[in-house]
Amino acid sequence: MNFQQFPLGSSENPYDLIIVGAGPAGLAGGITAGRNKLKTIIFEKEDRPSPFPRGETLHNARIFSQILGENVLNLISTHLTAGRKFNSPMSLNSVEVFRRSPSIVYEWNKLIGLLLSRLEETSVELKLGTEVENFIQENNICKGVLLKTGEKIWATSVLVADGHKSKIGHRINIPYNRINFPIMKRIISNFRGDYTGFEYFFLVPGMLEYAPRFPPSVIFVFPRGGEKCEVGLMIFSDMAQKLQKICDIPNEEEIRRVWELLISKYPRFSKLMKNTIVEFEGYTYIGAGQIYSDPMPIPGLFLSGESMGLIEKSGASGIATAMQSAKFAVDFISNYKISSWSNQIARKYSQEFKKSKFLKHLKGNARKTQLQKKFFFLYLRTAERINQKWNLVKNAYKLK
Ligand SMILES: Cc1cc2nc3c(=O)[nH]c(=O)nc-3n(C[C@H](O)[C@H](O)[C@H](O)COP(=O)(O)OP(=O)(O)OC[C@H]3O[C@@H](n4cnc5c(N)ncnc54)[C@H](O)[C@@H]3O)c2cc1C
Repeated sequence: MNFQQFPLGSSENPYDLIIVGAGPAGLAGGITAGRNKLKTIIFEKEDRPSPFPRGETLHNARIFSQILGENVLNLISTHLTAGRKFNSPMSLNSVEVFRRSPSIVYEWNKLIGLLLSRLEETSVELKLGTEVENFIQENNICKGVLLKTGEKIWATSVLVADGHKSKIGHRINIPYNRINFPIMKRIISNFRGDYTGFEYFFLVPGMLEYAPRFPPSVIFVFPRGGEKCEVGLMIFSDMAQKLQKICDIPNEEEIRRVWELLISKYPRFSKLMKNTIVEFEGYTYIGAGQIYSDPMPIPGLFLSGESMGLIEKSGASGIATAMQSAKFAVDFISNYKISSWSNQIARKYSQEFKKSKFLKHLKGNARKTQLQKKFFFLYLRTAERINQKWNLVKNAYKLK
């Protein structure tokens, strides 16, 4: 029988790969698939790929030159900085440290634009405004996806790259309440800060008279050159769970209320925010908690990026690992010339994924970060003690 007579994506003539989501993971996966000559389609639910800005700083890593080309990040960089300043509660003390290599600051749509231009060099299809509802499963093997329209599209493999709110992830009961932390993000102009590095302000329960039960959290300030800056507030939900006697897990309304008060009242931070103009603001979640352990929960169904919490926990950085995990999955399909899945091949993938360099790095980083958070939020715990013992904290940062 000539399978070509059936449309691509039918059960008789499936794609090699369907990718769900056109963020950093989905686009990097698509570019790799195109270069590896896999018949591939990407479904993106929005009218353009990844329209809502997420991470806008990164550290150079090999994956960027592999996917985008050598030194291409320079084209979109608006600011470089290796400096980090950590402020103690109520900004009474601070410590400055320097990374070995600088962080690159850029605008989200520029990174997505670069990824798209690379994707356009391949024959991968990108279908916008198309939401994936679920995956198709037959005999416990993934066979494709179900679109919101009710249409079924068939493929040998499916790469889940739909981020922190992953519909497919929810279908397979990934515990996003342990993976995702609430986060506010604001882009401002007219920023006249006196420090060009990244600045952090740590909050602990009991220190804010306008929100005494507010959980452990951090305000971040990332200048991006040209009087622009990204600022935000991330809640450490994992620490809040452990401190339920003294703090609450706030809802969006409460987080927004406290955020506004921090902007107008919090020592030093409020000064930095004075006369700034809001260009963008959003409330969302970031997968800065646990990493989900199974990269292929059903044979043929790969997880990648934030859909499984693949984020470097120390700096909540997920762009590089989203791209690395997607490339890793697609290269596996090509290296092993996968034309059908079995439990055995799925196990092999999981084993190789668990041995990957990037996962080992992420896990080591997560362990170290967890220890630091426990020391800071559970052992020292109060604003008073942290300020009293600041020399200890300072040395811990410097050791890093
Ligand atoms: C405020 C904030 C600041 C951050 N700062 C940094 C930083 O400085 N550095 C860093 O490295 N990382 C940072 N991150 C994390 C980083 O942005 C993410 O880890 C990264 O974007 C994950 O990429 P992804 O492709 O897995 O998911 P996403 O970027 O979320 O992309 C998912 C895509 O899937 C689409 N989609 C969703 N559901 C469906 C569906 N059902 N069907 C079809 N399409 C769908 C979405 O529209 C989107 O385009 C930050 C995140 C946030 C929220």
